[in-house]
Amino acid sequence: MKGKRILIVEDNDLSLVLLNDLLEVHGYEILKTGQGLDAIKLAQDNKPDLILMDIQLPDLSGLDVTRLLKQDDQTKCIPVIAVTAFAMLGDKAKALESGCDAYIAKPVILHDLLRMVDSFLSTFSRIGGQILLIEL
Ligand code: MN
Repeated sequence: MKGKRILIVEDNDLSLVLLNDLLEVHGYEILKTGQGLDAIKLAQDNKPDLILMDIQLPDLSGLDVTRLLKQDDQTKCIPVIAVTAFAMLGDKAKALESGCDAYIAKPVILHDLLRMVDSFLSTFSRIGGQILLIEL
């Protein structure tokens, strides 16, 4: 997946560094922010191939950010994987209702995350932006 661009939206510095390093080592180009509004601007300006979206952010929630991205013609085709600490029943449904394409619970198993990212990007390059929901 060399050259694919991933936007990481995560306000926890340690999580951000871990995700950044993991994905960079695998050849992805990384954009990152800890703020919801900044995430929208970065997505519009840079058109990442995939977004990893934390749900609890200091300004907008990741669900609201996803809703806004999915309403915007410029960004609606970018797949969004929600990464959330709320491992509660119903949160997955909330994430999917908000337009997230998939959901992964914290603590994230890095191997699972990487597999999900890889399969999203290869699916998207194969079928050109059609949404595929991946269950873990
Ligand atoms: Mn957070």
